[in-house]
Amino acid sequence: MSAATPVRVRFAPSPTGMFHVGGARSALYNWAVARQSGGVFVLRVEDTDAARNKPEWTDGIINALAAIGIHQDDPTFEGPYFQSHNAERHREAAAQLRASGHAYYCDCTREQLTARTGSEHLGYDGFCRDRGLTYAEGRALRFRTPDEGETVVKDVVRGDTVFPNKAIEDFVIARGDGSAVFLLANVVDDLDEKITEVIRGEEHLSNTPKQQLLWEALGATPPVWAHLSVIVNEKRQKLSKRRDKVALEDYLAEGFLPEAMVNYLMLLGWAPGEDEEILPFEELVRRFRIEDVNTSPAFFDIKKLTAFNGEYIRALSPEQFLAACAPYLTAPYANWTPEQFDQALFETVAPLAQTRLAVLSEITANVDFLFLDQPVEDEASWSKAMKPGADAILRDARSAYETAEWAAEPLKETLLAIGEQHGLKLGKAQAPVRVAVTGRTVGLPLFESLEALGRDRVLARLDAAIAKL
Ligand code: GLU
Repeated sequence: MSAATPVRVRFAPSPTGMFHVGGARSALYNWAVARQSGGVFVLRVEDTDAARNKPEWTDGIINALAAIGIHQDDPTFEGPYFQSHNAERHREAAAQLRASGHAYYCDCTREQLTARTGSEHLGYDGFCRDRGLTYAEGRALRFRTPDEGETVVKDVVRGDTVFPNKAIEDFVIARGDGSAVFLLANVVDDLDEKITEVIRGEEHLSNTPKQQLLWEALGATPPVWAHLSVIVNEKRQKLSKRRDKVALEDYLAEGFLPEAMVNYLMLLGWAPGEDEEILPFEELVRRFRIEDVNTSPAFFDIKKLTAFNGEYIRALSPEQFLAACAPYLTAPYANWTPEQFDQALFETVAPLAQTRLAVLSEITANVDFLFLDQPVEDEASWSKAMKPGADAILRDARSAYETAEWAAEPLKETLLAIGEQHGLKLGKAQAPVRVAVTGRTVGLPLFESLEALGRDRVLARLDAAIAKL
């Protein structure tokens, strides 16, 4: 596959749930392949499973894709395509295969087949192949797989896989009501949309020899295949929505930046080389080679993703950072009222937060001490910081801070001196003051926080803590 030949690729999600990060990786790889060849990217919603599809899942997927910069990109059709809109063509293709002798009707029930083969797990035995049945309600249409020869699936990621044709059962292509099954609908759509490369998850590998036979029987040249490895968690288990956090929407809502997600997802099974990992999307696209994608399972390392996200947060301009934080400064994230919030005050501490956040939603807990009337009550933080001797530190700080110059540096020098008098390093002397003022043991740099909060509020909180002790 040369980067110079314009390709037509597609991403074909089924709207049966939230948007899985594995789907997002497939979409990005398809997008990259299209972009680097000046080709076309088709978005096709495979919405034919009425029992499992919901319109809100479709919207969720389209919106999550848009958030990472991906959308239908076909000059001939604005899109996206919907598989359900092509149902008539799917039926026609089934009829065409029947007319050309590639398919036959079958009225075997599962029970009859099991009785004949002696097992529930064996494939179809070809019983109806030569019975010449015509269509009747309830009769499925089966594809007549070749008796001899082999089907060679050429996969740019996995190399060639050879399937002896006699091992491929005569599979169903249309149901008893005449509607095409997914396997056929998927091929017909790819054919109609003139797809030249199918890049998708490994779970479709077992469909591929059957689909390739369908392409050939429909008189077309099969696409180039590329099957991407499964994505696993830290226990090497396949990432699952019941066990793991898999929805792109959830990561974005929590404050993972789209750019960080895109960068991280691109590296799930592929490396841009030269030991570089954090790169702009255009550069990743430029370097991407589908041939270099790994076949082994890709580890979805949330720690690494989080570290990436931190880097991307650091790289934002101050204005971009303020804008990115905005959603987390109101309900449901924020525990203060809109009246309590003070944008100017927020902007004084925002630069401190930008250097330390890993995920944007952490901003809320980092700044709530500024907007709440009282610091949050957190028993664990309180008992950790308010050890014997804390009382004396708080009292001394309280009296020194009444007159200290109100700026971070002198506030720090003052507490340093108080700590020394009590034989404590600054870190230990800071802990009770931090918890008294912010309610938490960790947060923004303390003395800048005190400066921002102001003398009166700091003294009042120190008094309250002394009273509580
Ligand atoms: N709709 C299928 C899925 O979501 C994708 C099939 C394909 O990419 O060929 O798993």
